[in-house]
Amino acid sequence: MALLEVDHLKTQFFTEDGVVKAVDGLSYRIERGEKFGIVGESGAGKSVASLSLMRLIDDPGRIVDGSIRFTDETTVDAFEADFPSHVLDLETLRDEHDVTELVGRLLDDGVAPSTLARDDRLDADADARTVVRDGGVTMRDLVDSRYGVELGVVEPEAFIVNDGAERYIEITRASGEGLRRLRGGHISMVFQDPQTALNPVYTIGEQIAEAIRVHMDLTENEVKERAIEMLGTVGIPDPEERYNNYPHEFSGGMQQRAVIAVALSCDPDLIIADEPTTALDVTIEAQILGLLDDLTTETGTAIQLITHDLGVVAGVCDRVAVMYAGKPVEIAHVEDLYYDPKHPYTVGLMGSIPRIGDGRERLDTIPGTMPDLVQVPPGCSFHPRCPYAEEACTKKEPQLVNAETGALADPGEYRDHAAACLEYTDDLQHGLDYEVIIQEGLEVSVGSDLELTEDDD
Ligand code: SF4
Repeated sequence: MALLEVDHLKTQFFTEDGVVKAVDGLSYRIERGEKFGIVGESGAGKSVASLSLMRLIDDPGRIVDGSIRFTDETTVDAFEADFPSHVLDLETLRDEHDVTELVGRLLDDGVAPSTLARDDRLDADADARTVVRDGGVTMRDLVDSRYGVELGVVEPEAFIVNDGAERYIEITRASGEGLRRLRGGHISMVFQDPQTALNPVYTIGEQIAEAIRVHMDLTENEVKERAIEMLGTVGIPDPEERYNNYPHEFSGGMQQRAVIAVALSCDPDLIIADEPTTALDVTIEAQILGLLDDLTTETGTAIQLITHDLGVVAGVCDRVAVMYAGKPVEIAHVEDLYYDPKHPYTVGLMGSIPRIGDGRERLDTIPGTMPDLVQVPPGCSFHPRCPYAEEACTKKEPQLVNAETGALADPGEYRDHAAACLEYTDDLQHGLDYEVIIQEGLEVSVGSDLELTEDDD
C-alpha cells in the first residue's frame, strides 16, 4: 500500500466572479521514500493541491470532493489508539447498508452517474444497479468521497477508516488534535520563500525547537540538542552559535536550509516542497535540491516536489505528474516522461528547457496562457494552445488513460504511463506529430550529484 493516496481531489474557490476549479480531479499515489514531482505552469493547480494535502485551504476555498488517505501503518495504529471515537469500521457499514440503495438515493437527488462513478463514459440515464456494476462504485468509494457524509452514513468527524487489511487516515475529514499531529509530525512542508516561512522575531534555533517540542516527547535539553543537530545536518556551520541567530542574519540559502531543518526535525514520513528554490539563485538552487534529495534518501522520507521546472524534476524525482488547468494530463516515471512524453503540453514544457550546447538561438514557448479556471475551455482544456487540436478536441474531454491500452488510468498502477489526450482513445483523426530526439550529452542534471558546501553565503 502506498504512503499517500490522493483520489479525485477537487478544490474550488467560490469567488464573486464564479467558481475557480483550482484542482479538478487529481489522483496519484506516493510510495514510502518515493520522490514524486508535480509540474506545470503558474495557475496549473500544483500549489493548491499541496495546500489541500496539509488542509491549509482558506475561505473562499474548500475541498469539495475526493479523498486524501495517509496509510502509514504505525501512524494509523497510534491514531486508532488515541482517537477511538473517530474510527469508522467499513465492514459494519457494509452490514448495515446496501450500496445500491445508497447510490439510488444519490441518483434521485440529481447526482450524475458519471460523477458518482468518476467515469464520463457512463450513461447519463444509468440506474443505481448499472452505476454499481459498470461504474464499480463501492461502499469504500462512498466513504472516501463526500457522499458518505451527505448520505448520513459517515460521521464527519470519523477520519480513521478501518477496512480490514487496509486502514488509513482520511485527511480531508481530520480536524483538531488529529490534524495538528499529522502536520509537522508526519507530513511537513517546505514553502517557496524562506523569508516569509520564518518568523523574523524568533531565533532560527527557537523555530526549529518549537516544531520538535510540539511533536516529540523530549526534555527541554534534548529539544535544544536536536535543534542544533538538525542545523548541522542541513549544513549550517557552527550550529551551536547559529542557533541564536535571527532569520535576517542568515543568507537566503541558509534560511532555506533552516526551513528544511524545521521540516525534517520531527522525522516526517512525507515532505511537501513547494517550489523550494524559486527565491534562490541557480547555484544555491542546486545546493538546496541536492540537500533535500540526499537527506530524504538517508532518512527514507518521501517528497512531493512542486515545481514549474521540468529540469528540477529530472534531477530529483522518481515519478512525475504534469498538471494543466487543475487536472493531471500526464503521469509517468521520470525517464518515460523525458524520453517518451505522451501529452502535447509535456512536449511544450520540454521544449522550453534550456540545454547547454543544443544550438538553439531561442527557446521554444507554448503559445497562449493558462485558461481562466472559472471558464475552462470545453473539451480538452489545452485545445486553444495545442498544435495538434482537431474539432473533436473542442467537444470531448479526454480522460487520463493508459497511453498504451487506452483503458482508464489506475493511479495505483505504478507501471502505467498515463496521458489525457484523445490520441490514446482513438478520437483524433490526424494524430500527434512530434518526435523526441535524444542528443548525447544534453541530459538535464540538477542538484542531486552536487556536493554540499559548508556555507553558501
Ligand atoms: S486532446 Fe486534442 S487538444 Fe488535447 S492535447 Fe490531445 S490533441 Fe491536443
